[in-house]
Amino acid sequence: MKPSLSPTASERPNLYDVKPDELPALLHAFVTPSFRVTQIAEWMYRRGVDSFEAMTNLSFALRGELAERFTISFPRGVAAAEAAPDGSRKSLFTLADGSLIESVFMPMGERTSICLSSQAGCAVGCTFCVTGFFGAGRNLTPAEIVGQYFSLRNEHAVPSEQMNVVFMGMGEPLLNFENVVTALDILGHDIAPKRMTISTAGIIPGIRDLARLPKRPNLAVSINAPDQKRREEIMPITAKYPLDELVSTLRDYPLEHGREITAEYVLLAGYNDSVEDAAALARLLRGLRVKVNAIPFNPDPNLPEWMKRPSDEAIDRFVRALVRQDVAVTVRRSKGRDIAAACGQLRGRSEPRRPRAR
Ligand code: SF4
Repeated sequence: MKPSLSPTASERPNLYDVKPDELPALLHAFVTPSFRVTQIAEWMYRRGVDSFEAMTNLSFALRGELAERFTISFPRGVAAAEAAPDGSRKSLFTLADGSLIESVFMPMGERTSICLSSQAGCAVGCTFCVTGFFGAGRNLTPAEIVGQYFSLRNEHAVPSEQMNVVFMGMGEPLLNFENVVTALDILGHDIAPKRMTISTAGIIPGIRDLARLPKRPNLAVSINAPDQKRREEIMPITAKYPLDELVSTLRDYPLEHGREITAEYVLLAGYNDSVEDAAALARLLRGLRVKVNAIPFNPDPNLPEWMKRPSDEAIDRFVRALVRQDVAVTVRRSKGRDIAAACGQLRGRSEPRRPRAR
């Protein structure tokens, strides 16, 4: 399947929507000699430029011809970027059709992560997630996905070697598989696959497709409850992708040396955060090369009132119970909580929130 093209007013194809290995054939007819194609790829995939004008080692005539036939545009963050005390910045991007998406730039010492959106909303409807609350949105094109990365990386002038990318923003990346894979191919020219992470609600066919890729990013899977009943309560889509089948799919997932799957677990006070829940989770994950990333729930007025963040003591008890079962576990520091940019808080809307009944 071909990736969809960016919905710009222009009829010209956007070269950021094209798989990198298809770029030479597309340009071959009029870009000669062939090293010029390499130069164009370098400008795009390493420098992340969004105009042919910037390609100063190409002739003026060639830049003009490229601009007549193609675009290399991507969305730029609008002025809604906010800064949190921990250094995180949330950026709002307006797409050509008026859709709004958000990305988060998160400095973490010597590393910087960018949390990318893959859809302009999300149909999956996890009940603890604001994106899910606001509902479905269209798939983002490859240009719209990589544009978030290049726009933020260039704005903050971060060297590629320090960058990590996580697909944990708005949308379910495995429901926009082709475009996300094209974006991974493009980003793979700038950062190694092991520094990119796809986070999924557990879309089993998508995980199987990901397993067949020659260069795989890291895989993070939202588990969130140690049993099917509770998982289905807070993640209705999991009725279609049952927990036992998900775990057996993860057992078959090929992992390179030194890599592991991340099991994400949103901790909800009094719901899934007991010592018994930790023991059940450890039993569920036994035999998998996995580490648990415990994510204390981030409250939001749009989300159900009964959902609360556990106390620090409860989080600590849960973590220690996992460690006693020899499960590797980290607790996610919620970067960007002060600006509603933490996990599950992205909405792609700039207007004030209007809580409504679920
Ligand atoms: S947690 Fe992810 S998959 Fe679930 S509704 Fe939110 S964006 Fe969608």
